[in-house]
Amino acid sequence: MNIKIRSIEARIVDHPVRSDGAIVSFLGRHEASRYVTVVATDADGAKGFGEAATAPIWSGESAETARWTIEEFLAPKLVGATFDRPADALAVMDAALHANGFAKSAVDVAIWDLAARRMGVSVASLIADRVPRPWIPSRVSIGVYPPDETVRLAREFHARGVRTLKFKTGKPGLDDVARLRAVRDALGPEPVFTVDANGAYPTADAAVRAIEELLPFDLALVEQPTPRDRLGMLAEVRRRTPVPILVDEAVFTPGDLEEAIDLDAFDVLSIYPGKNGGFSHSLAMAKRAQAAGKCCAIGSNLETDLGQAAMVVLAASLSAFPAEKYACDLMAALFYDRSATDPPIRWRDGGVETPTGPGFGVVPAEGP
Ligand SMILES: [Mg+2]
Repeated sequence: MNIKIRSIEARIVDHPVRSDGAIVSFLGRHEASRYVTVVATDADGAKGFGEAATAPIWSGESAETARWTIEEFLAPKLVGATFDRPADALAVMDAALHANGFAKSAVDVAIWDLAARRMGVSVASLIADRVPRPWIPSRVSIGVYPPDETVRLAREFHARGVRTLKFKTGKPGLDDVARLRAVRDALGPEPVFTVDANGAYPTADAAVRAIEELLPFDLALVEQPTPRDRLGMLAEVRRRTPVPILVDEAVFTPGDLEEAIDLDAFDVLSIYPGKNGGFSHSLAMAKRAQAAGKCCAIGSNLETDLGQAAMVVLAASLSAFPAEKYACDLMAALFYDRSATDPPIRWRDGGVETPTGPGFGVVPAEGP
């Protein structure tokens, strides 16, 4: 590809997010999306774009630390250098800096976008191992609210075409059994139910007990019941429950994935570039998980359409994502009133259309 980087810029953007129905989980309440937009420019003036969907509670990064990391620490190591592939630039970043995955990913995504735009092709055309799917069904998160509010949100999302609901669970003081029962009573057997405890249960016994109480409501997936740093405990829960386990917080990196495969700790891997520290890593991890007999679904830190574009392209292009079976967390349209990109990622029938333009197919709405 031969990509010569001339500049890497990072700017902080506040994206207004709905407060009514905000995602509340065991980890806290997502009521602000203060993110970083990255613009990578090459020697000929071509540009590519990425987003760092920063949240300190999730990855230890804030918008301010990510902007500093990108502009002051990573950019000087990349500007002026020439790379054959985006993954080579990511290797330079990984060699210089531990963790900070969302910052590194925003740069990696921008370089992928730039490289594909220079070639006049979509990133999907560069990575696909199947005919890219034109549309991916979305799974939408319902925060930990009392039963009435849980039903109201479930009805709203169902009316927008969503067929897979992800209930955040495990917050002390709220009865998850009553919440799921109320939604089954209201919407019947058709919606697919998944639950995400965000590591709420401190022991395997507690996790198994909580899952067993919810079995009557027909769970398709249980996401991250155990704390993020307890992969062995997750493997035990998987052995003791009949519902497939989706691993999220416990697998950020390629190394985490190897450990999880060794322990046979999961059935489905939650993947997305920010968490994995780069689109290049997400790509490799999806293939690795598939080779180990697992499959993948897109997870999310409530990216805007800018961050979401790379996620949709990944899910659409790779056979590691059986999206018709396991919907993906692509819910920006339901949480942001305004799209962050031009064109917007189009919401249709409870899912999103795969962008088809050059690169990842979108540019920041406020311009380059
Ligand atoms: Mg999760």
